[in-house]
Amino acid sequence: MDFSKAAAPSEATKAFLARQTHKQFIAGQWVDSASGETFATLDPATGESLGQMARGNAADVDAAVASARAAFEDGRWSGLTPMERSKTLWAIADAIEANIDELAELETLDQGKALYVGRWAEIPGAVNQFRYFSGMATKIEGSMIPTSINYQPPGKEVFAYTQHLPVGVVGAIVPWNSPLVLTAMKLAPALAAGCTVVLKPAEDTSLTAVRLVELMMEAGLPEGVINLVTGLGSEAGAALAAHPGVDKVAFTGSTATGRAILDAAKGNLKRVTLELGGKSPVIVMGDADLDAAIGGAAGAIFFNGGQVCIAGSRLYAHRSVFDRVVEGVSEQAKAIQLGHGMDPATQMGPLVSQKHASKVAGYIADGKKAGASVLTGGETTGPNGSFITPTVITDVKPDMSMVREEIFGPVVVATPFDDLDEVLSAANDSDYGLAAGIWTESLSTATRATKRLQAGTVWINSHAMYDPSLPIGGIKQSGWGRDSGQVALENYLNLQTVCAIV
Ligand code: NAD
Repeated sequence: MDFSKAAAPSEATKAFLARQTHKQFIAGQWVDSASGETFATLDPATGESLGQMARGNAADVDAAVASARAAFEDGRWSGLTPMERSKTLWAIADAIEANIDELAELETLDQGKALYVGRWAEIPGAVNQFRYFSGMATKIEGSMIPTSINYQPPGKEVFAYTQHLPVGVVGAIVPWNSPLVLTAMKLAPALAAGCTVVLKPAEDTSLTAVRLVELMMEAGLPEGVINLVTGLGSEAGAALAAHPGVDKVAFTGSTATGRAILDAAKGNLKRVTLELGGKSPVIVMGDADLDAAIGGAAGAIFFNGGQVCIAGSRLYAHRSVFDRVVEGVSEQAKAIQLGHGMDPATQMGPLVSQKHASKVAGYIADGKKAGASVLTGGETTGPNGSFITPTVITDVKPDMSMVREEIFGPVVVATPFDDLDEVLSAANDSDYGLAAGIWTESLSTATRATKRLQAGTVWINSHAMYDPSLPIGGIKQSGWGRDSGQVALENYLNLQTVCAIV
């Protein structure tokens, strides 16, 4: 493994990085943090600094919320026709697409992911979010309601209807695993609805948020409609979640932080949606197409180094095929080429940071101590100690931390089962309920299983099939609400009932 072999970034990426210190965007201006402080953002593969980000705190959040409030109240965005908002959202999609190579390189350098992940999956996904919700901006409709009210004055009629109005100022707080697409999943529906936004990206991966905001402004978004505060979760994030001037927080991140957001939101009872963690089961029935299932199960956990909320981190295979499935997934794990994300040959980059890699290594060590067997992988490597080799683990017990907790790395735990009831009960034995996958050639088994699986999304003979039209989100401790799909627009709209005597 040659971790230093990285293709040189494009001239556009070099020019962006040459700025060295990146500002925040408030009220249409690029500004330093109120304190003047900055923090470093690192290339996780090497540990080298890529530049400094403004360290926004409560004062910056105050200014950003005031800007978003002013932009909301004067109708410079919500007062445009739906068609005008739609055109701007489409122009944002075009601008992202036109700069996709630069954005993919920045995401790889900052987050670590293999270049193809951003270039061909996540950033096209961000483009599609803006295109999908561009179309939705012109389809925000209420309904006329025939009532049975009969006490209106004689000769008068009752005319009642509903209308959907933008919620107001949205605080969007996003994580580091897939920064740009997860940001687009908040911004596109919020803007389609007519809201204004304060965005707080994750401290480890803020670079593409800066570039995205520049592109949004070039695409014609009015000043003040998007505001960007970079900084730490405990400072800028906490201030945004608690801010009385924020009407809604749209959060994606860990379940622990989701709880903190809920506490912070209590003050003004702001609306909250939470896209949280997962520990998603992948079930391989005895009649599954094994070649497809083995590839699917490996992809479900190893894509983006397992740093995916819906990662298939618990593999259950029927005892009749267990050895073949586990050996097949292990073979695929061993074949994955690790390296710097900017090396075109790399299939899996480092984890987002050395700190996160040591957390993942801790789960592996704890599991081994508790009697689990590491079939393949389980090593920490790379110049910065931030790579974890793709890991397949057997001989696990349901109460082990590696079975119960979200590891958020390339680590899958595999367990055999004998019948459907047994595996569904094991699959549901989790605090999480984000996603599940089932591999079988039986339509009946798959269809019946979907209703019994406690998961916001169930994939049949597939995993991680995303589309902006498909709602995604969790039940149990995986969250509240859904991103993507027509329902996501409702996150950013208030329903108003109008009842008139005419
Ligand atoms: P995290 O919860 O540590 O951080 C997420 C964001 O919250 C960051 O911007 C962070 O700065 C901010 N934050 C931290 N503390 C805060 C606080 N007290 N108040 C307000 N904001 C705060 O999560 P992470 O480690 O960046 O991301 C990984 C997690 O995200 C995993 O649990 C993963 O499953 C989850 N995730 C969920 C989905 C989904 O759709 N359900 C998608 C992707 C990631």
